[in-house]
This record gives sequence, structure tokens and C-alpha cells, in this order.
Amino acid sequence: MRMLLVEDDVLLRDSLRLALQAVGYAVDTCGDGVEAAHLGEVEPYDLVVLDLGLPLRSGLDVLRGWRARGITVPVLVLTARDAWYERVDGFQAGADDYLGKPFHFEELAARLAALAKRSRGHAPVALSVEGWQLDEARQRACHRDGRAVTLTAIEFRMLRCFMLRPGEVLSKSYLIGHLYDASHDADSNVIEVFVNRLRRKLGSELIATRRGQGYVLVQPAGR
Ligand code: CA
Repeated sequence: MRMLLVEDDVLLRDSLRLALQAVGYAVDTCGDGVEAAHLGEVEPYDLVVLDLGLPLRSGLDVLRGWRARGITVPVLVLTARDAWYERVDGFQAGADDYLGKPFHFEELAARLAALAKRSRGHAPVALSVEGWQLDEARQRACHRDGRAVTLTAIEFRMLRCFMLRPGEVLSKSYLIGHLYDASHDADSNVIEVFVNRLRRKLGSELIATRRGQGYVLVQPAGR
């Protein structure tokens, strides 16, 4: 899952980036409202963490601009200004959630995980498919028969990406756009490598290839 983190406090931005990467997000960062507005318009983010007090253009203004252009990416607004009327302003500008500074990272991570699921129409409970449940805290897959399979960072991100969109064909370019941050120049061939690793770990029938289109996570019949 790929995220944009907009925060002008360099120390906070760097520490948050590292913490968010550690819990399985590909993270792009920026520190002003003009760059944020641009990135949100051109990159396929799954989530945005947006500070309100930013240089050049306020976070609220950036958010209003995205919503006016039909950009529906889930946005969690992060700000030191925790007054109730500013939370109302944030929601009216199109925010999906709100967290006042200072905050515990665990709360931010939990809110983002719930937001990502809700935005794809899932209840905010563990993602599962074909007997496998994704353990997001430990970045592993657990089968109902008791098996637990450890996933590498990229395998975890890829499996979560598929589980959020079961039954949908995901192209290699979609997967690259949502698994890697902008600093990675990923080759589309690596996608096949990681899909095959997930198949070896979780079962070859879990992810089907649609030749010339991409890959699809099996969707149980009747859903
Ligand atoms: Ca700020």
C-alpha cells in the first residue's frame, strides 16, 4: 500500500516515515502544500497523512483542491491544532479521519489500517481469503489449520494489496504503483517473481494469472 506523508517538521516526518515503512507501507514524503497538491494529483496513493499547518499552501486548501478535482484518496489529517472547530473544518474539507498531535504511533497505524479497509469496502477486521488470514501486526499469514507463514516486507505489502481487492485483476503497473515508493525504480518483472513467491508460500491456486492483463486473487464463490 502506497502512502503520501505530508509534514513540514523534518524530524517528525523522518521518524514517521521509518515507522510507517516498518509497518508495511511504501511511503513518499513532502514538506509543503504545493508539492503535496501536485503529488496527490499525479500519484496513485492508497492513503494520505496530511498535516494542516504547511508552508506555501495550507493542508485544508490542498485537501479541498483534491476533493474538488474528484480525488477520493482516504486522507487522515494530522495537526497540532486539536480544537474541535478545526476538526470540523477538516471533515468539511473532505478528511476521512483526524488525529491531534501529540499522538501515539500505534493509534495512527491502527487508524490508517482501518481507513484503508473501509475505503475498499471491507469491515475494519483482519483481511482473509481461502482460509488465510493476514496478521498485519506481525506481517504474516495464518491459516485456519494452524499454519503461520512469515512474509517479507514486499510479500506482505503485495498480499495486502490483493486482499483489499479480491476478485479484481491487478495489472503489473497497478501493483508497482501501489507497492513501491517513488524512489524505487521497480521493473515489472519483479512483480512476477513476488507473485510466485506468494504462491509457493500460500498455495499455487491463490493467485491466478490473467495473461496480458495481470493477476487476480481468487474470490470465494458466492461473494
Ligand atoms: Ca506543520
